[in-house]
Amino acid sequence: MVAGYFGKVLRVNLSGGKISADEHDEDFYRRYYGGSALIAYYLLREVGAGVDALSPGNRLVFAAGPVTGVPIAGAGRNSVGAKSPLNGAYGQAEVGGFWGAELRHAGWDAIVVEGKAEHPVYIWIEDDRVEIRDARHLWGKTTLEVQKLIQKELGSRAIRVAQTGPAGENQVRFACVVNDINHAAGRSGMGAVMGSKNLRAIAVRGHQKVELADEKAVNALARWLRDDLKTNRMAVGFSQNGTAGGLTAFSAMGNLPTRNFQQGHFEGAEKIGGQAINEQILVSRGGCFACPIRCKPHVGVNGRYEVDPVYGGPEYETLGSLGSSCGVDNLEAIARGNQQCGAYGMDTISTGVTIAFAMECFEKGILTEKDTGGLKLRFGDADMMLELIELVARREGIGAVLADGSARAADVIGNGAAEFAMQVKGQEVPMHEPRCKAGLGMGYAISPTGADHCHNIHDTGYVMRIGSGPRAMGILETLPSQDLSAGKVRMQLYGSLWQHALNCLVFCQFVPFASDRMTALLNGITGWNSNLWELMKLGERFITMARAFNVREGKGKADDFLPKRFLTPFESGPLEGVAIKQDELSTAVETYYGMVGWDSEGRPTRPKLEELGVSWVADA
Ligand code: SF4
Repeated sequence: MVAGYFGKVLRVNLSGGKISADEHDEDFYRRYYGGSALIAYYLLREVGAGVDALSPGNRLVFAAGPVTGVPIAGAGRNSVGAKSPLNGAYGQAEVGGFWGAELRHAGWDAIVVEGKAEHPVYIWIEDDRVEIRDARHLWGKTTLEVQKLIQKELGSRAIRVAQTGPAGENQVRFACVVNDINHAAGRSGMGAVMGSKNLRAIAVRGHQKVELADEKAVNALARWLRDDLKTNRMAVGFSQNGTAGGLTAFSAMGNLPTRNFQQGHFEGAEKIGGQAINEQILVSRGGCFACPIRCKPHVGVNGRYEVDPVYGGPEYETLGSLGSSCGVDNLEAIARGNQQCGAYGMDTISTGVTIAFAMECFEKGILTEKDTGGLKLRFGDADMMLELIELVARREGIGAVLADGSARAADVIGNGAAEFAMQVKGQEVPMHEPRCKAGLGMGYAISPTGADHCHNIHDTGYVMRIGSGPRAMGILETLPSQDLSAGKVRMQLYGSLWQHALNCLVFCQFVPFASDRMTALLNGITGWNSNLWELMKLGERFITMARAFNVREGKGKADDFLPKRFLTPFESGPLEGVAIKQDELSTAVETYYGMVGWDSEGRPTRPKLEELGVSWVADA
């Protein structure tokens, strides 16, 4: 097998209890690499059109990449993918921590889970030894309790655990997969798929090293990166403030979703920003395998909103979704909400945005106390936000409606509620405002998973100057943040292809590592002679395969939309009067189709699939 890979994908069929391994050759890995593209390969091959995402026919794929588990900053990640129960489309989330590296050290490149167990189980992997074990005693327990119980049962605290929580057991459609207690593969409802299979956890312990083709070259790159991170502005900022460092600036520029995206600036931003965290509740900073940046806050609160630092702490997306989106400026309450989401295993973005949706429905009189069991769902009510998290996780009262996500909840509530569901393709919009970052907004519209901020450009980074990364791809001109010209589409396309490539390698986007060094690292690991062109094609291959999966599910141009609110001007604030224009958005989306080689309805063409070396997708 080529260096950098183990050549094996673990396959666990929970219906019959069969455990086996898929073996792949070097060409397979050079085509699909890992992470996103590996997931797209398995979903296209094995999940037929129309399969219910919460049925045994769905596949749940945990995929590492060639970089995962190599001792270098940014290499502690893995992807989790399945058909999404939120929207019936391609679903995927990335996660850091230590579990992915441990999976590779156990000698596996990925895991494919199929079927459904007769009763709750967990999978225990120790190198080549794989068992399916009874998990009936774990069902209903918090993520912290389950990790402790599994580690005790298997006799080592070095065992890494990825799991769904009680929310996944209850098939909350935005339940996430949590590993190492405070790292979440948040988006697309992967925890609900895990729960639907009666699979509570996957515990891993490995004793192997990833074989490197050129160990000296890889070590030299790791040393260079470690030194560079000490002075790199972006890395130092993440080390000191985490992702929350930008929150107050985002509010000042109108990018901080507030009260369900009715405003883009929040009067309480100072109270919930990075500085407030550092001064008031920060206990320590944590991070991921081999990464010295340690951008994750661990916070502690005593008293009314008790918070255990073991659950980490709220990062930017959570501060926005449980904070400003719900009009909540109580930092301790937001930290408590973050802990609840971690303990129950729920995506904080979808949780907060769905609660904010309910609050706006209540504000507008669409939901009343009759519908909510007497609860007054008011923006700014921190205790109500926390109460709703509980109800959603347990699927009780109004929580049972909200647990299906804002799009489905809007259908049930009716009376025009859909207008206030801030979602794209059924997935709730993250904490970046399209009226501030138009290219990102277009990215939300065309993303295969629905609104997602991780694999799209952030326009504000391309306004003043173009960094060396985009320049290496031929992006030379700055453009205004609200621009949606063909030049912006090209910027968005190239930027997102690179992000998708990183998600195939699987490498952290917060670690500043230029594309030439990234390819040198890949080549040092594998012995290949890869280059930027090949990795951009990898990103294109993935996005086209994911699109093909969605087309097969009957999704197309009509699903590439933005909620009406983003087409409506802000009434006040830094972006007063600013809106996305529908005609510009439609033109940009069609321009994107043309640039990426899809037809005018957004369907990948056979020649395009052939050019990308995946003609079998056209047949599938
Ligand atoms: S930058 Fe942060 S998220 Fe990325 S690997 Fe390092 S600690 Fe983890």
